[in-house]
Amino acid sequence: MGRLPNFVTHLECSETGREYAPGRKYNLSDSGKPLLVRYDLAALGKALSKRDLAGRRSGGFWRYAEFLPVAAPENRISLGEVETPLIALDRIGRDLGLPDGRLLVKDEGRLPTGSFKARGLALAVSMAKELGVTDLAMPTNGNAGAALAAYASRAGLTSTVLCPADTPEINLSEIEAQGATVLRVNGLINDCGKLVGEGRSARGWFDVSTLKEPYRIEGKKTMGLELAEQLGWRLPDAIFYPTGGGTGLIGMWKAFDELERLGWIGSERPKMIAVQASGCAPIVKAWEAGEEHAPLWQDAHTVAAGIRVPVAIGDFLILRAVRESGGFAIAVDDERILAARDEVARREGLLLCPEGAATFAAWLAALDRGWLQPEAEVVLFNCATGLKYPLPTVTRSLDRNRPVDWASLTNRDA
Ligand SMILES: *Cc1c(COP(=O)(O)O)cnc(C)c1O
Repeated sequence: MGRLPNFVTHLECSETGREYAPGRKYNLSDSGKPLLVRYDLAALGKALSKRDLAGRRSGGFWRYAEFLPVAAPENRISLGEVETPLIALDRIGRDLGLPDGRLLVKDEGRLPTGSFKARGLALAVSMAKELGVTDLAMPTNGNAGAALAAYASRAGLTSTVLCPADTPEINLSEIEAQGATVLRVNGLINDCGKLVGEGRSARGWFDVSTLKEPYRIEGKKTMGLELAEQLGWRLPDAIFYPTGGGTGLIGMWKAFDELERLGWIGSERPKMIAVQASGCAPIVKAWEAGEEHAPLWQDAHTVAAGIRVPVAIGDFLILRAVRESGGFAIAVDDERILAARDEVARREGLLLCPEGAATFAAWLAALDRGWLQPEAEVVLFNCATGLKYPLPTVTRSLDRNRPVDWASLTNRDA
């Protein structure tokens, strides 16, 4: 069987720059930091052009094969990935006097398993298969576990998923249904992560926690490639990213760097804006304090389960990207998150997940504080389908056996 184009040269410690040979199983570097995959970009640029890419019509993020580490076609595990759309919130924009097309949502809820975790886990599972790893495990707040379960089952690998006990029921059920062993843990995601770490030696698990293996970030990087291509190989003025472990933010930052080295974009960058919930905002606190690392956040709580991450191993990489881009970190409370979800759903017909709604609430807050020009071209990330989350209860009813009081049937906004 043929091989996919592969330009990986080595892996590199994100802190010390120490190099590691490709083609082996890795978790963290020797200094306990995330490893980043490096490519021969000069050779990649000779083998692939923007026009070649434009000719590839299907395949979702696998269209960017040259930017990815999988070498053998049979190891590419796919569930029918799609390019996710950019949806303009023009009705809301017009309310605020903005020109059309300035406020865009990249709707990642269209991916397999209903969240952008599919990008990272498709790559992690494909590489696990390629490197002969069979037994995968991770801590998760839900969506990552669902994507791991689905892609691992598709690859014929086993997976074990540890979730905080109060993880949304739908996530627990989808993980179970898609073939993983799922366990509720009486703690938060970092407590689950500690148990997965112990299971590495006790059970021989391979740890696919956020940034604790090198390939999820390569999958998330494709959000940056896809966004640049969708905008005609340029970048927006600002990206609002709901930040938990930060894989996507770090991954997009890496994508932009690779594109610039290829000469496909210039040195301009969007402001990278890390959005967190007020009940769990370690990155915001560290950004405000000018720190390089973000200590564990106590008593983390928020309705936006995907960003309830009290401590992130890639904290310094998130903060570096935010600062180098001239961006900022900002927290919004649950009340504003739910109000934002309601407003976008009612005004635009787009049902965001709470984490995605947090980016809209943060955009409003940033305009309020004068941190962003209203006419800036902005991309908000909606990371999962809103259908995975508890939704409002319906209480109104009609009794078909009684006379209907038609005059009382007013529209909600009337
Ligand atoms: C995982 C997740 C996030 C956070 O993503 P990171 O890249 O880990 O910061 C945000 N929203 C949703 C819905 C998620 O599942």
